[in-house]
Amino acid sequence: MSSLPVQQISGVYHRKIGDLVVTAISDGYIDGNLDLLKNVDVDRARKILVDAFRPVRRVSINAFLVRTKGALVLIDTGTGGSLGPTNGWVVRNLGAAGVDAKDVNAVLLTHMHPDHSAGLTHADTGKPIFPNAELVMHEAEPSYWLDDAELARALNDRAKSMFEHSRAQIAPYKTRTRLFSGGEVFPGIVAMPIPGHTPGHTGYLISSGPQQLLIWGDVVHVPEVQVALPDTGTNFDVDFEAARKSRKKVLDQVASDGLLVAGMHLHYPGFYHVARQGDGYFLHAEAWQHAL
Ligand SMILES: [Zn+2]
Repeated sequence: MSSLPVQQISGVYHRKIGDLVVTAISDGYIDGNLDLLKNVDVDRARKILVDAFRPVRRVSINAFLVRTKGALVLIDTGTGGSLGPTNGWVVRNLGAAGVDAKDVNAVLLTHMHPDHSAGLTHADTGKPIFPNAELVMHEAEPSYWLDDAELARALNDRAKSMFEHSRAQIAPYKTRTRLFSGGEVFPGIVAMPIPGHTPGHTGYLISSGPQQLLIWGDVVHVPEVQVALPDTGTNFDVDFEAARKSRKKVLDQVASDGLLVAGMHLHYPGFYHVARQGDGYFLHAEAWQHAL
C-alpha cells in the first residue's frame, strides 16, 4: 500500500474571463471564534454556521493572479505566514501554477491588512518577496497607514502593530509604488473603491469582451453570516458604518446584475454568484470547470 497523503494538491484554480485568465491562489486559512463580529446576535450567527455544517469560523485567505496582456498582476499577497501555521502559501502555490515570485510584474492590493499585504516582504530580512513588482493601490491606503496621527489614535497594541507592520511591508517598494483614485489600473482591470473596511479598500472589476468578474476584497469575512445578515461587520472595519453601507451596496449590485464575484475570504477557490434570500443574500459557488 502507498503511504498516506500528508498534503493537499496545490491551491491553484484557473478561471478564464474572456481573453484573460484569473488564477485563484490559496494562501491557506485561519480558524477562529465569532468575537470579531459586530452588530449581530452572536447566537444567530453561530446557528447559521452550525446549520451550514461549519461549526468553526474558518476564513479562507485567497490571492488572485491575473494574466493581462503584457503583465502578470497579483492581487494581494496573503499573510506571508504571519498568522499561524495554516496560511502563508501564496509563493508556494504560485510556483505550482508555474509562476516564480520574480516573474510577477505588479502587486495590486485591495488594502493594507496583514492577511493581504504581509506577503509582500520577508518579515525577518525586510527584503521584498516580489523583487521586480510595481506596488499598486488606492491612494487612501498609504495616506491612512502612514499617518502618525492615525497611529496615535489606534485603540490598542494590536491596532498599533497593524500600522507598524503595514509600514514595514510596503517599505521596500517605495520607489516603485503607483497610487490611484479609481479607473482602469491595468488593461482589463478597473478599480472599484469599496471604502469602509479600510479607507482605500478597493475591489477590481476584471473585464474582457462580454465577460466580467468582480474581485471584491473583504466585502465579507465570515461569508455565511455576513451575506445572510449584511448589517454584520467586524472589529477590523476602520469605519464600521461606511463598511456596512459599502457591503450592502455591493451585494445589491452583484445580485441585481448577476455578476460573478470572487473574494479574498470566500471559501476557496472563491468564485460565487449572489442571490437574494429573505432580507439578505445567499452565495452559490460556481461549479468547477476546465481552465480553458
Ligand atoms: Zn482580509
